[in-house]
Amino acid sequence: MSKLVDKFGRFHNNLRISVTDRCNLRCTYCMPEEVTFLDRAQLMSFEEIERIVRITAPLGIDKIRLTGGEPLLRRDLPTLVRMLCAIPGIKDVGLTTNGLLLADQAQALYEAGMRRINISLDALDPERFRILTRRSGVELVLQGIEAAKRAGFHPVKINAVSIRGLTEDEVVPLARYAREKNLELRFIEYMPIGADQWERDKVLFAHEILEIIEREVGPLVPASDYDPKAPAMDFEYVDGGGRVGIIASISRPFCQQCNRMRLTAEGKLRNCLFALDELDIKTMLRDGTSDDEISRKVLENVADKWEGHEINTARFVKPLRTMHTIGG
Ligand code: SAM
Repeated sequence: MSKLVDKFGRFHNNLRISVTDRCNLRCTYCMPEEVTFLDRAQLMSFEEIERIVRITAPLGIDKIRLTGGEPLLRRDLPTLVRMLCAIPGIKDVGLTTNGLLLADQAQALYEAGMRRINISLDALDPERFRILTRRSGVELVLQGIEAAKRAGFHPVKINAVSIRGLTEDEVVPLARYAREKNLELRFIEYMPIGADQWERDKVLFAHEILEIIEREVGPLVPASDYDPKAPAMDFEYVDGGGRVGIIASISRPFCQQCNRMRLTAEGKLRNCLFALDELDIKTMLRDGTSDDEISRKVLENVADKWEGHEINTARFVKPLRTMHTIGG
């Protein structure tokens, strides 16, 4: 059977599925303050999500990440996790969450078969958290992180977006907190995909983050399993006290190694985070299109993927969708 390989030879095994566009935060860099969310009927049902995973698993998809919006706002998420883990070929079902509702759900998700979890946390300082997210609740996120560890998730990864003028002061506290709690911390360079006016000057770049950590927290060396081709550049503290990663989508794009596809909550397939075109899968799922035909359309869509996001060129066009409607 054909596999999800594009014309540049990139093999795709990683599908990120947004289960809702709703969110209980309003992060300034991600979404507008006022939002109209999708009606329930517009969201893909669990059965529709299961079907698309059953169709794409034989094409090479073996890794799923549930995201949103905030995926923990979707009722009965462990049920979906169980359905996806049971699909032949699926090796890994992970989650990206803001952690606000995690304390109550971590155990059930683990029991459903989920093993990988990324929790987004850009600031430990409650006031900074409020400025970034337009909401309060950092203490709930910290409780969620503890619950994830207790449930058995390992490693628990923390994702922090790095924005000049907004998050520099949080780099050191986050790095110390992650070391103390044995969490894997990853900084993500701020990307032009949110509601805010993005400017290159606002990106706190990978080398600057590393400088701050080395100066204030401790010297780092490339991790023993450092893979120059992987999206994250991973480092270890020389004294053995943990790891830090950086996803440098702007200063070191990893498009040539991209293995990801995304499905929005309303069932649109995007072969790149920054894609300007989408394949409407949900309509096909609902209008009687056969699995074989859907499979053929998905293969075609991935084969046509462009070379890269072009953020660093004058040709870059910002997609109309903001991150919360795509799924990070
Ligand atoms: N609500 C969940 C969460 O907060 O993890 C999942 C969805 S959120 C859109 C996924 C990730 O996208 C988060 O880690 C968030 O920080 C990141 N993100 C959103 N907008 C971004 C931007 N403009 N640049 C970089 N990362 C961004």
